[in-house]
Amino acid sequence: MAKTFNLMVLTPEREFYKGEAVYVGVQTIAGSIGVLSGHIPMVSALDVGALVIKPDEHTTRTAFHSEGFIEVRPECVYILSQACEWPEEIDEKRALEAEQRAQERLAQERQGDDLGTMGHSKVALMRAMTRRRIKSMSSPGSK
Ligand code: ATP
Repeated sequence: MAKTFNLMVLTPEREFYKGEAVYVGVQTIAGSIGVLSGHIPMVSALDVGALVIKPDEHTTRTAFHSEGFIEVRPECVYILSQACEWPEEIDEKRALEAEQRAQERLAQERQGDDLGTMGHSKVALMRAMTRRRIKSMSSPGSK
């Protein structure tokens, strides 16, 4: 049996997850990482990506996570993120609209050489695209 560890996932609005887990995976700015019990202590900045939680060996749940931090401590793994959503909480229409807005902004910024705000638009685009990907992964009939 895989060993469990304490996992706490917090956003500014809520306690997204609090409990034991055998695995948690996130997207850091240096790539995706997976944490098992006994992982060395570390802190890393989070990019936008998939939050994969295995509460036990037989169950896997995938959610959306926004920018933030992961801190691995001996007694607990903490994930602090601007926003987290389970697939059933993701409003697909809102994400599609956010994606279109971000794409329009990026096109305008490219034309105007507005490099100062392009970073914000790119991250907004990543958030919208990742939300749509995670929502579609959980939809009936999805591949
Ligand atoms: P939008 O432009 O639609 O607000 P955003 O990427 O700027 O998108 P965030 O700043 O990441 O939004 O999130 C703000 C709040 O709105 C958070 O509570 C987040 O969980 C929620 N949220 C954002 N987009 C969605 C969505 N498509 N479905 C459900 N909740 C969402």
